[in-house]
Amino acid sequence: MSISTTASPGHTGAGFWIRVIQNRLRLIAGRFLRSGFRSGWTLVYVSVANLIRRIQNKFLGARVECPCCGWEGYGFKYLDCGKFHVPNVECPVCRGHERHRMLHLFLTRRKPAFMDRPGRVLHFAPEKQIRSFIDQNPDLVPIGIDWDMTQYALRPGFNCDIHHLALPDHSFEGLYCIHVLEHVGSDYDAIKELYRVLKPGAEAVIMVPFMMHQTETEEYDGPDPEIFDHVRGYSPLDFKHRLAPFAYEEVTPASLLDPDEVVRFQIPDSQAIYLCRKTTQA
Ligand SMILES: [Zn+2]
Repeated sequence: MSISTTASPGHTGAGFWIRVIQNRLRLIAGRFLRSGFRSGWTLVYVSVANLIRRIQNKFLGARVECPCCGWEGYGFKYLDCGKFHVPNVECPVCRGHERHRMLHLFLTRRKPAFMDRPGRVLHFAPEKQIRSFIDQNPDLVPIGIDWDMTQYALRPGFNCDIHHLALPDHSFEGLYCIHVLEHVGSDYDAIKELYRVLKPGAEAVIMVPFMMHQTETEEYDGPDPEIFDHVRGYSPLDFKHRLAPFAYEEVTPASLLDPDEVVRFQIPDSQAIYLCRKTTQA
């Protein structure tokens, strides 16, 4: 399937583009003043790179494909991470990132057993990309959960602190915890809670963002506004130790995809999925 990214008629006039440029310059000036040179420069770089990417996607042949929405184009958009940028991340149509593409392919090709059974699924920081798969099974009941569920349109859901889940032991068949643990004060305590609320034999799908150059996980002084309010930067070398209560399988892009698919879908090594199983009755 191929999706066109042609702009609507209302987005082609000179007035529209003048407003876009004015807003962007205002944003850049604000970033330099608020966050300093390095962060301001990142926004300048990403703004120019994504303008070039837009032109490339309009005039050059398709090299990449988004498995989530079917868009094909020259390249995905750059992501502004505050102190640094990451190329080839965001789909210009569905706005899915690398993790969404990896999860989509994982759930299409080798979804966890609980996805085909009746039961309740806990979904932290619920995103539509996963919910669409859960909703394919009418006997599966998704329950969204976050410290502030008003940020999310998906229901049902409720506010809860992941360190102290107000939920009974052994009450869920499965759970998704995607890009959540890098935001919480104690990820060890959070993982213990995930373990506690799962039924014996149930599974958890966990992902975190990795800082691939780090040999150790780094704890920050607090939420870092320059990198999406993360409180730590995970190293791929020591994250697995934190999953200790679980038996887990590491599903990497290389284990799930052919080499040409890794390139076509632009999914880097950092996008590992941890499929974790509760093996005890505790
Ligand atoms: Zn897409």
